[in-house]
Amino acid sequence: MKTELWNEGMELLSHTAAEEIRIERLKKQLRHCYENSDYYRRKFDEIGARPQDIKTWEDFHRLPILMTKEEERASQQESLERLGHPFGMHLCVPPEKIIVAKTTGGTTGAPTFSYSFTQHDLQRWNEGLARGYWVAGLRPGDRVLFCFPLCGGWVGSQLNTVLSYMGILSLDMGVELGMERIIEFTKWIRPNVLMATPSFAEAFIEKYQELTGKDIRELGIEKLLLTGEAGVGIPSIREKIERAYGGRWADYMAVCSEAFSGSCLTEEYQGLHDVAMDLSIYSDDLVDPETKAPLEVKDGAIGEGVITSLDREGLPLIKYALGDIIQIFTRRCPCGYPGPGNRFKVIGRFEDRVIIDRVTVYPMAIRDVVTSFYPRVKGAMRIVLAEPPPHVKPPLRIRVEYGPGVQGHQLDELERAIREKIFGMYRVQCVLEFLSPESLGRMTKKTPLFERIYEK
Ligand SMILES: [Zn+2]
Repeated sequence: MKTELWNEGMELLSHTAAEEIRIERLKKQLRHCYENSDYYRRKFDEIGARPQDIKTWEDFHRLPILMTKEEERASQQESLERLGHPFGMHLCVPPEKIIVAKTTGGTTGAPTFSYSFTQHDLQRWNEGLARGYWVAGLRPGDRVLFCFPLCGGWVGSQLNTVLSYMGILSLDMGVELGMERIIEFTKWIRPNVLMATPSFAEAFIEKYQELTGKDIRELGIEKLLLTGEAGVGIPSIREKIERAYGGRWADYMAVCSEAFSGSCLTEEYQGLHDVAMDLSIYSDDLVDPETKAPLEVKDGAIGEGVITSLDREGLPLIKYALGDIIQIFTRRCPCGYPGPGNRFKVIGRFEDRVIIDRVTVYPMAIRDVVTSFYPRVKGAMRIVLAEPPPHVKPPLRIRVEYGPGVQGHQLDELERAIREKIFGMYRVQCVLEFLSPESLGRMTKKTPLFERIYEK
């Protein structure tokens, strides 16, 4: 059987062969940054290192963090004041070479221009994302209904250019247009793929019924590429959406403009495949979020993911710590994807951690254990905090919705099984309180994982 991949040249390499390419690109990238940007030159000088000191992966892994979100913002501010452009002192090319300037959401603080590209970098971004889209099931000839907020210079609209790069038709409908207009267009183009946020996909089900009098299934959506918020790992939401549309759900991500990835189409969520070891480093570079000391990367390891660009000329990010906690998987995925990269699951933000009996756990890691009991549980859950985190007195209190059809007498056995699994994985003692299905409410953009019962 022919292996179907976007880029067989890179995706059929062994991990070792991909590492060889990567280390060469890394040395070149570091030299480029040092020679062409004030920011990186200053940073290297501060730590007393030179790019040529980085000869092996171990040298690189030991290198301290060179950028945080705050430093990125400060770098942008400085270039705005001193040089009259917003890209930052870490820009490594003349500003005229930037042809795409898109920002992150900017939900907290000023937006960052990490999604700004030169011609070369745009090509590289298209290539990285195309591999992730391919793993998630997109193919040339698909017709995509693309519904993200497109206003305000946000990067969402840029995801679209990847589709034309792949030979895919995109029906580019900003959610601002409203459901009626979006539905009108679907009649003409007949999309077979929906790319949106999980909450848009969920709302679209009811709205479609209301406005057309028909079931959304008649649209013929076979593939759902949903991203941008929690909900991906919640099986009850996934099942509801897949059942309503009659299609399969996958997710994908380009973490902070790098770390190109896609989730595969296995029954149980396996995390995101890192599909571009030659274009960036993410799922191989972990640090302890507290001390920023490098952590050994082995199957199941949890830590703060650190991003480093490769082959990026305009705005490379080097040793960039984002505060996202990820779990790495090095073992082969059941889907059979042969690519050399690891897989990773986003576990949560560092500030959401809970420390209990000197063990650190993340609410999304607990949620993943709980949701693995689906359909005996619904998927929604809360960790009850009787005192301000991160330190919590044992046992950890968890409220969980049991699944429809679960009988009262089955709950003791269910609680024991969930408790044992959490203890087995994280050495954390917990107690569960069961709630009836749907009592914790529907998913929204920021579904809370905590219920705080202390006085704030
Ligand atoms: Zn897979």
